[in-house]
Amino acid sequence: MSRYLSARYQSLVPYVPGEQPKLTGETIKLNTNESPFPPSEKAKAYAAEASKKLERYCDTQCNALREKMAELYGVDKDEVIFTNGSDEVLSLCFMAFCDSDKTPVFPDITYGFYKVFADVYCLPYTEIPLTDDFRVDHKEYYHSGKTIFIANPNAPTGISLSKEEIRGIIENNPDDIVVIDEAYVDFGRQSVVPLIHEYDNLIVTGTFSKSRSMAGARLGFGFASKALITDLNTVRNSLNPYNVNTMTQAAGLGALCDEEYTRRNCEIIKENRAYLTDELRKLGFTVLPSDANFVFASHPNIGGKALYEYLKSRQIFIRHFETARLKDYNRITIGTREQLDKLIETIKEFPEA
Ligand SMILES: *Cc1c(COP(=O)(O)O)cnc(C)c1O
Repeated sequence: MSRYLSARYQSLVPYVPGEQPKLTGETIKLNTNESPFPPSEKAKAYAAEASKKLERYCDTQCNALREKMAELYGVDKDEVIFTNGSDEVLSLCFMAFCDSDKTPVFPDITYGFYKVFADVYCLPYTEIPLTDDFRVDHKEYYHSGKTIFIANPNAPTGISLSKEEIRGIIENNPDDIVVIDEAYVDFGRQSVVPLIHEYDNLIVTGTFSKSRSMAGARLGFGFASKALITDLNTVRNSLNPYNVNTMTQAAGLGALCDEEYTRRNCEIIKENRAYLTDELRKLGFTVLPSDANFVFASHPNIGGKALYEYLKSRQIFIRHFETARLKDYNRITIGTREQLDKLIETIKEFPEA
């Protein structure tokens, strides 16, 4: 730290992304919930074409993307915002809808970035513990008086709330914003996007990083009433109106013109998730019921960290968290069937298993 860093950031602990190891032919990367499949051919072709026009600024409104998205999701194009990954739309929500008397609240075990956004914006926050079986107890969020952030399905557990439970949270906080982070919704849950037409306090966020195989392109989005989207755009245009670059806008449009490809990949991920869950359970693992593209698993005789380190030594990367309630577990991204077979085979060779 230099002696010039603003006092308000001197104790800031940044978000720690999963490792991005140098990939060799041997590496199996199951640690950051990316897709094992390449982006759609259309996404690649549109991005390549767009790369020829980089001398021009990008469209600050993402018009083509918003039109296509609105058509696909049954909303108006003014009910959508695009951002540089969904991390950016979440960040805009913290900026636009939280302050010292409207502080953020989220589960104690959830996407690690929520806490970091609260810290960077100097907002005190409240964490509501998950139940003993790692569920979000939706009633605990009723009458909160706070801005609510819930990942659904949650991470790193993979467990989700039903649409009716989310409706309960929204209806019991009529004067507060409820942000539902649907980063993983395409892997098995029904989206609550249609509810933006029933409730003016709901924001639903999503990303192209997982189901649409575009983590490196950085494309996220938010759905909400026109008024809320206007607020988010006020903040966005005050920070970086050119937040989604030309190639990413084009790639996103290509992906949206190939939704069948995304849907097929999600089906394969769901089959592979069921397969991995079965295989891990056969080996004695406890595996939480996941609606996401990862599973969260622990073993009675193999420490979470020991398994993580052993697999890493064998070029297989999974995600380990050191906190008290999570340290016995690991989060494993659903890869291809071949990758999962290699993973299972390697776990069977764990020295003390
Ligand atoms: C991956 C993830 C995101 C953010 O993804 P981006 O790559 O920034 O779009 C947001 N929320 C959750 C819960 C995630 O797991």
